[in-house]
Amino acid sequence: MASSSYYNPPCAACKFLRRKCIPGCIFSPYFPPQETEKFVNVHKIFGASNVAKLLKELLPHQRAAAANSLAYEAEARVHDPVHGCIGVISSLQRQVNRLQKELDSANADLIWFACNDMPPPLEVGRRNVDFGGGGIFYQTGSVPISYDMTWNDIYNCHGGGMDGSN
Ligand SMILES: [Zn+2]
Repeated sequence: MASSSYYNPPCAACKFLRRKCIPGCIFSPYFPPQETEKFVNVHKIFGASNVAKLLKELLPHQRAAAANSLAYEAEARVHDPVHGCIGVISSLQRQVNRLQKELDSANADLIWFACNDMPPPLEVGRRNVDFGGGGIFYQTGSVPISYDMTWNDIYNCHGGGMDGSN
């Protein structure tokens, strides 16, 4: 008799659902035994049967991405039941907006110094930037720059052209 001593541990889904993990289990490739929490979150938010149904409807090469996407969304929803993924996206969007303003401000500084034949910024004043959540940035020295101005505002008010032809 060919009794197999090979033991294939059940996937995280079958382990959690206390069922036998049969060959071809739809969860097995995407929820390995060591990633129990990944399945627990997905099951809690979407339900195992819905996830199985969704995975079966997809082409095999799309399933891993879908499983990971569901896992990401589920984890976000577990941590932030109100906003889920949108909370993370909004936070990153605010960060992008703040950094865009800082970039515009730095570009405005560059234009101002270029147009006024000023020495480099370090010789004029020290620029302080707080990268924390407050989005505060200020500048010591006496350079009159409005942080509300965008690169295009500065560019246009100086007649355009960075090539010295204006
Ligand atoms: Zn399984």
